[in-house]
Amino acid sequence: MPEEQRIAVPIEFDPEDEYRPEPEPEPLPPSWMDGRIRIGIHTSIAGSYLNALESARKLGCNALQIFSASPRMWQGGPTRIPELDASAFRARRQDLRLGPLVVHANYLINLAAGQPMLRTRSIQAFHDEIVRAVALGADFLVVHPGARGEGGAVQAISTIVESVKQATKRVPMGGLKILIENTAGMGTAIGSRLEEVAGIVAGLLRDLPAGACLDTAHLFAAGYDIKSESGLASTIDQMESTVGLENLPVFHANDSKIPLGGRVDRHEHIGKGKIGKEAFARILQHPQLSAAIGEGAGRAFLAETPIDDPGDDRRNVARLWELAGLKDQAPEAEKGFSMLTPALKKKLSTQRSQKARSSRRREKASRPKVGGSVHRSKSGHRAKKARRRG
Ligand SMILES: [Zn+2]
Ligand SMILES: [Zn+2]
Repeated sequence: MPEEQRIAVPIEFDPEDEYRPEPEPEPLPPSWMDGRIRIGIHTSIAGSYLNALESARKLGCNALQIFSASPRMWQGGPTRIPELDASAFRARRQDLRLGPLVVHANYLINLAAGQPMLRTRSIQAFHDEIVRAVALGADFLVVHPGARGEGGAVQAISTIVESVKQATKRVPMGGLKILIENTAGMGTAIGSRLEEVAGIVAGLLRDLPAGACLDTAHLFAAGYDIKSESGLASTIDQMESTVGLENLPVFHANDSKIPLGGRVDRHEHIGKGKIGKEAFARILQHPQLSAAIGEGAGRAFLAETPIDDPGDDRRNVARLWELAGLKDQAPEAEKGFSMLTPALKKKLSTQRSQKARSSRRREKASRPKVGGSVHRSKSGHRAKKARRRG
């Protein structure tokens, strides 16, 4: 008994003995931020989100862009991603050290819309984009600024800023940054001028992590001569004086089917378009563009080039590494891999010619009877040729 008593004697309380948590560790930068240039391509999530990561690896990328749902439908898949799928994706991406992960938002979203129904729908859809991007652990969410319709550019810019702010309400953003993409300037699309992009980014930066993503094909079609050495220098000066190079973590690296100032958005294989191989080498090796931004964060160049034939995707990634002068640093691609397999190509071209046939039938049905025979034989000939090609 006396012994027990001795043990039970309470020692005097000393606040120094209180448990003290260690100071919060400085958050480590993600493993992909090693200061090197990042190169990748838009990969498909068809079948599973994980497929996009495997494709990026097999194509020789160290960064990638995806859609988180079908980009041309309002309801193009689940609004939310089941946590099990999301965590498997995040873990696999970590294993593969792929980054940055860029999510491209739905094309139907128009954050500049004046029409209230379309604007509400766009804000809701963009909200869902943010939730999915955060779930996947994305670094950037790229969105087109939208079309101003009847209104002026100044009004559109403030509408866009307001729409994004509404869409981010009550969403924990995690490490996600919203990037506004420049446009080719088709129709009333806002964002073909760097000043417009900068206006939106500046408005967002007051409350949100934001920046811009510049597409080389859009710059060129909008009249920025990045093909010539002096044109590139002056365009970089304008980037610096408007958006600021530190706010440009991602470039879409696309050649253009459209000549300088043509204001139409048509991507071409790297080096095969109006911008050309030499210009891409200059862009990818430019000290102000390829250099690390911020602390150890490499800038990403992501292709959104067409895949006309199996292997086009792999070849465009390889060409970016080569033109960046980093061929020997490139992750090894899987020999012969392509997101477009010969079987998928065949299936797609059958679908296309079926669609063409049925639209020709519709056209024929609505055409006046007189004088149609010449057209008919011509289009019949063309259809046969197309079938042979496929
Ligand atoms: Zn885009
Ligand atoms: Zn484009």
